[in-house]
Amino acid sequence: MIEVTLLGTGSPIPDARRAGPSTLVRAGGQTFLVDCGRGVQQRLTAAGAGANGLTALLLTHLHSDHIADLGDVLITRWVTTFTPDAPPLPIIGPPGTAEVVDATLKAFGFDIGYRIAHHADLTAPPPVDVYEHTAGVVWDHDGVTISVAPTDHRPVAPTIGFRVEHAGASVVLAGDTVPCETLDQLAAGAGALVHTVIRKDLIEAMPMQRIRDICDYHSSVEEAAATATRAGVGILVLTHYVPSIEPGKEDDWRALAATAFDRQIELGDDLHRVEVHPGVCRRA
Ligand SMILES: [Zn+2]
Ligand SMILES: [Zn+2]
Repeated sequence: MIEVTLLGTGSPIPDARRAGPSTLVRAGGQTFLVDCGRGVQQRLTAAGAGANGLTALLLTHLHSDHIADLGDVLITRWVTTFTPDAPPLPIIGPPGTAEVVDATLKAFGFDIGYRIAHHADLTAPPPVDVYEHTAGVVWDHDGVTISVAPTDHRPVAPTIGFRVEHAGASVVLAGDTVPCETLDQLAAGAGALVHTVIRKDLIEAMPMQRIRDICDYHSSVEEAAATATRAGVGILVLTHYVPSIEPGKEDDWRALAATAFDRQIELGDDLHRVEVHPGVCRRA
């Protein structure tokens, strides 16, 4: 079984009830954090996880809402790991990830210096291993494999989606993208597809051109649902709601998805959890 927890279902627009984009994937005793938006660590704690228990960090792309709390994750993992010679945190992302991680550690350079000077058992900066990929198998450990494929969020490029597989169960995390063939292939036959969505019908009516600009590089609810249908996935999990789902309006979003996808649809608040079983799919 693979367990998916929507840690943050928000977007770049601050929301009192929703953290920034971030999803937790647990499979075969391994814990993967996919993107690390605003407020991710409060949600990690609520989900019974922590930065010091992450197996790897996966980044779909380098937009600010998806990496806003990268520094917090790196520093918190470092100062709350008490085993000597802790292994580096694997960070897998698109090209550019190493530069972002380096710059983030640089931004926290004073903090890192203070802590190394103060604590005898902290002798080096946070250990990380960064891997940049756009396609192929990127992880194969203890029964969990992860592969990536390019997505289409242009002009933001390159961007990638992840497919996590364990014991016959599979989950694909699309990130921000318009419908594209490489995502269809990555998601083919998956147990679940976690897809970021925007309501183009609502956004196109907004007066600010800068907001309307986002329609050209995101999938609408219906487009994400059509992707799920083409790929033949079992469960469609919607997240990254723009605009935020108003309380009590979840069924409107579900109905839009149902116009293009006739299987299980999951959406909700932060910490919404979905179990993805091999063959059988059901809500947690
Ligand atoms: Zn984005
Ligand atoms: Zn985004």
